[in-house]
Amino acid sequence: MYIAIEGIDTSGKSTQIELLKKDFKNALFIKEPGFTKFGKKIREIIFNDEISKKAELFLFLADRSELIEKVIKPNLNKLIISDRSVISGIAYGMEFFDFDLLVNLNRFATDSIFPQFVIILKLDKETLKNRLSKKEHDNIEKRGIDYLLRIQDNLISTCNRLEIPYLLLDASNSIEEINFRIKKVISEFVK
Ligand code: ADP
Repeated sequence: MYIAIEGIDTSGKSTQIELLKKDFKNALFIKEPGFTKFGKKIREIIFNDEISKKAELFLFLADRSELIEKVIKPNLNKLIISDRSVISGIAYGMEFFDFDLLVNLNRFATDSIFPQFVIILKLDKETLKNRLSKKEHDNIEKRGIDYLLRIQDNLISTCNRLEIPYLLLDASNSIEEINFRIKKVISEFVK
């Protein structure tokens, strides 16, 4: 079972994933971008260099392709929990490129292995502003609050359009409440 945790920056993905590591000790925890050795090099470029949108898209695709081939395919019999996935890839890409083109490129890169279930942590504008103000911003986050809220909508519409089942959670709830809900839904899949 391949499950992705999605949400814009500061929505609480890594906080939840750290908790899930204790709850699901046999699961394989991965992240995008930058999980594989090659991916770590790509991640460095994506977040630090000023590159064109198309070049950035292909770097994300290369990272995802390597992850699918080396890590996900050999472990599809296990519970895989991923911090971000192709859903983020398409949701961010949609700001610049055609949705169907992105889906096709991603299907090619991943041999059509997409997450089977997605958990989306959704932030309201005030909570997002509050959390971003406490954080140093990288290249992607510098693009602003309204940009991130649009990406958040894109995450949801991407799941809808690809007909991937998802659970939408209010990311302003307490860490414990969100953990409880995620644990519950994942447990139903693995029992
Ligand atoms: P992401 O991995 O999605 O970027 P993080 O897990 O790093 O998000 O969380 C961003 C910040 O928000 C961190 O400082 C974290 O402690 C805080 N945070 C995460 N979840 C919650 C929550 N439910 N309530 C309050 N603060 C939270």
